[in-house]
Amino acid sequence: MLIVQKYGGTSVANPERIQNAAARVAEYWEKNDSVVVVVSAMSGVTDGLIKMAHSLIPSPNRREMDVLLATGEQTTIALMALALHARGIPATSLTGAQAGIKTDRAHSRAKIKNISPTKIRECLSQGHVVIVAGFQGETDDRMITTLGRGGSDLSAIALAAALKADLCQIYTDVDGVFTADPRLVPNAIKLAEISYDEMLELASLGAKVMQSRSIEFAKKFEVVFEVRSSMNNKPGTIVKEETKSMEDVIIRGISMDKNQAKLTLSRVPDKPGSAANVFKTLGGASISVDMIIQNNSPETAKSATDISFTVDKPNLKRAHDVLLGIKGSIGFAGLAEDDQIAKISIVGVGMKSHSGVAALMFGALADAGINIIMISTSEIKISVIVELEKADEALRALHAAFFPVHRNTNP
Ligand code: ADP
Ligand code: ASP
Ligand code: MG
Repeated sequence: MLIVQKYGGTSVANPERIQNAAARVAEYWEKNDSVVVVVSAMSGVTDGLIKMAHSLIPSPNRREMDVLLATGEQTTIALMALALHARGIPATSLTGAQAGIKTDRAHSRAKIKNISPTKIRECLSQGHVVIVAGFQGETDDRMITTLGRGGSDLSAIALAAALKADLCQIYTDVDGVFTADPRLVPNAIKLAEISYDEMLELASLGAKVMQSRSIEFAKKFEVVFEVRSSMNNKPGTIVKEETKSMEDVIIRGISMDKNQAKLTLSRVPDKPGSAANVFKTLGGASISVDMIIQNNSPETAKSATDISFTVDKPNLKRAHDVLLGIKGSIGFAGLAEDDQIAKISIVGVGMKSHSGVAALMFGALADAGINIIMISTSEIKISVIVELEKADEALRALHAAFFPVHRNTNP
């Protein structure tokens, strides 16, 4: 059997954890399985390198940042190989480039174009465990690239697809994917399975358990994988294509994103082209907008309207500046910003076939005395913006409403 295993930052945080991961790899290798291990940088290392770069220059060059950040994973592959050697297991470490991972040239958020796993296959055929540095690849002209934060997940999924692995396991510091972040909601329930679409929504709406791009990739190439703990032997969560029975569960999980900020343009002239101008300007500055609300208050009705929208917190200042730049041409009266907000989303494919979910969500928030600032919906999710201060409480109130204690979420 060919197995791809990925160990995240906390699972390789120190030599003892690396030995622990090596012991798990050994178990499979001793059963004659072929094992490809993908590792992250030891926890805190990537953040530390970013901080160091910013202490030298406020906006470091992206190409140099990739050279720098790739060293984090390069340290772990060698340490993991050494830990396996110490157990008498032949093991070879490979950088992303040596493993044949080719990307486009978008430094710091590169996309994988193709993988030629010749070297990996060669090492496996010699009976070696192969350890590949996650989060990195190279361009056709051999520049080092990285795949965006959390990108080791993508390396693992992409390698599992390229190698047609029989099993893909994502080892992390929790027992699997839960109905909500188990660190924030102590009675969150571990899911036995979840569909790609649900996992993708949860991840892109704030649950950092898996990088969202890795799930898009898994869906596209139909890579079934398991998220499980590197600290115990409990079965984890299987992520796979939606099955009919999944629709029986209305809400699969709840996620929270505290990285949001809101801007409000007041008294925007109510005429064709106003909104288009605002969002064209933001798009031109590569600022993506999430939720949008436009409303006519009684005193502004007919002549003007208010437009509110959300952006990622790091883009707030830039969004504010580019909008002020077009104040004259659009003719709005005021521009207010609020970074004390959070987005909470409920996700489930069962919403497609069940009604009354929004009423239950809004009712639970009302009962907890939490005001809803904005709402947006799609076929399988409902998101609300609430005050940052109330966000943790809102998350727990919603969890209690949708997952009453003792309910089995995996029929
Ligand atoms: P790794 O270093 O292994 O990649 P991450 O820190 O990136 O691990 O992701 C695991 C973390 O994701 C957990 O420690 C947990 O706090 C967080 N998390 C957020 N939402 C969820 C969820 N719904 N289920 C499980 N973990 C979640
Ligand atoms: N080390 C990288 C990060 O911290 C990639 C990863 O851990 O997946 O984002
Ligand atoms: Mg991660």
